[in-house]
Amino acid sequence: MAHLSGTDRSQLLLLPEAVDDYVGPDNPVRFIEAFVNGLDLAAAGFERVAAKETGRPGFDPADMLKLYIYGYVNRVRSSRRLEVEAHRNIEAIWLLRNLKPDFRTIAAFRRVNRSAFRKVFREFVILCRQLDLFGRELLAVDGTRIKAVNNKDRNFTRAALSKFIREADDKLADYMKRLDDGDAEEERVGGNSDGGKLAEKIAAIRDKRARHKALLEELDRTGEDQISLTDPDARAMARMTKVGVGYNVQLAVDTMHKMIAEQEVCNQVIDLGLLTPTVEAAMETLGVERIEAVADRGYFKIEDIEACEAAGITAYVPRPIRGLAVREGYFAKELFRYDPDKDVYVCPSGATLYPRYEGKVRDNRKIEYCDRAACKECALKPRCTGNTYRRVSRLENEAILDRMAARLDARPDILDRRRESVEHPFGTIKQWMNQGAFLMRGLDNVRGEFSLTALAYNIKRAITLIGVQGLIAALRA
Ligand code: SF4
Repeated sequence: MAHLSGTDRSQLLLLPEAVDDYVGPDNPVRFIEAFVNGLDLAAAGFERVAAKETGRPGFDPADMLKLYIYGYVNRVRSSRRLEVEAHRNIEAIWLLRNLKPDFRTIAAFRRVNRSAFRKVFREFVILCRQLDLFGRELLAVDGTRIKAVNNKDRNFTRAALSKFIREADDKLADYMKRLDDGDAEEERVGGNSDGGKLAEKIAAIRDKRARHKALLEELDRTGEDQISLTDPDARAMARMTKVGVGYNVQLAVDTMHKMIAEQEVCNQVIDLGLLTPTVEAAMETLGVERIEAVADRGYFKIEDIEACEAAGITAYVPRPIRGLAVREGYFAKELFRYDPDKDVYVCPSGATLYPRYEGKVRDNRKIEYCDRAACKECALKPRCTGNTYRRVSRLENEAILDRMAARLDARPDILDRRRESVEHPFGTIKQWMNQGAFLMRGLDNVRGEFSLTALAYNIKRAITLIGVQGLIAALRA
């Protein structure tokens, strides 16, 4: 039996007569077309929405935006590859009505309109909100590092620079001494020492030291702790056990369908303090005045939890097991029970610790509780402290943390819901969508890039949930 032979290429009317015939009713490009056509691009901040009166006609920003959304949904992000798709891909040809912008025009559009993409992302969230695709009850917040266009070797921390300069000084002193010794030896016995090679080494180290010194001075001038040479806004940051140079991407994910309610990119190396701004922005787009939010221990900061309460956010953030006592292997503070009626702590041996000393942590009043006499007699003391007695500190506003701990005790499953909810978008974006690294440099540019990434993720998710025609019908409603 012969193989399938296909159709004769010289056959007339091999192809359907209209490009539209190639694009089925459930093709996502039909939704992209309808969605972008319904946007107010001028209000979103896109440039050149009105065509120029004179000169060569330019591309409509709506067409360029459609191409970008199509590209991000289909794992094509580079301007050169988008140009290729506009020539050979029937869906892109349909979407652009056979327009063929070159890669410079495509790249310039993304750069110039980088701030407007966030508005488009939010417009889609609002559309999905109208379709009840957001539960608007519980948000899972998390951050991840996405790689920047900056190699690790091109990032320098203050500590690394200072260390290099110290070591260079030691090496230079050693080489100078060897050079002097060589000169003396040459004079004594005649002949050539290896002074020439040493002089070369000294010049190379001096040169490198001068460059490191200049970078350190730049850090002193800016007050920053690190400097990146390729993308100055990128920062070395740790995620899990690895350190890399990138940006901190924050997501607020609605736990009902794991859709992204809010996203932000920053270059802060840790998540502390980012809970309230991320959730507040999500609340605005979701149109709610109160919401619950769950995050991991990395967000545990009393000022942030306090700000959450003030903003109508019911926060769930587990307390990190940290502090000097824990590091040294002594009883963690969680083992001491606070009695709010009597304002005392009951320690693991059952002794009562009373408020005795006062101090400050940042702007918060700190009270320290202890009972010297009880500790002196205590059989558990070797497990509790290495000092003569144990002090337990409590911040003036720590009742907020106690309330949060009680909420977490009542809903232990909520931490699993957080993990499941945030893993889906991060995993999809990094693995399936292959968007684990930024293509552009600079904070404003990568913010624009990630708005497109998050929009593409949400579009794919919404299509899975209600289909292309369901989304188009919502636009018409
Ligand atoms: S050492 Fe002091 S604080 Fe610690 S368990 Fe004993 S009595 Fe309690």
